[in-house]
Amino acid sequence: MTTNTANSTNGTTAPTGAAAPFGFTEAPASINVRVLSPAGFDYQLTMRASRVGDVLNQAQELERWLLKHDWTPAASRPAAPSTTATTGEPPICPYHNKPMTRRSRDGRSWWSCNEKLSNGEWCQYRPKDRA
Ligand SMILES: [Zn+2]
Repeated sequence: MTTNTANSTNGTTAPTGAAAPFGFTEAPASINVRVLSPAGFDYQLTMRASRVGDVLNQAQELERWLLKHDWTPAASRPAAPSTTATTGEPPICPYHNKPMTRRSRDGRSWWSCNEKLSNGEWCQYRPKDRA
């Protein structure tokens, strides 16, 4: 007899929208930490776990390990808002008479001229009083 109306037994293994209310593709708890290795390299570590308590435990262990191996936290400095003489307007390169660009790298920042010299090298002018 063929009384298979809408009662499919094995055909569909995926219940449409029934189970898994949160698709657990991404771990719900994660921690990002930036650290400096003893040699000075800047690492960003990400820890993930299915529960916040778990990832915090991992963080504590990681912290212990890092301290034991002379790693240090990488200070995420928020780009020094208004300290000395950073009043918006950039200094002007006296050779090119153009506003200079603020550049930053490795936690330091400086003003740099975006123009090239006639020999193809970048302008090396640096304002003295505005570090
Ligand atoms: Zn210049």
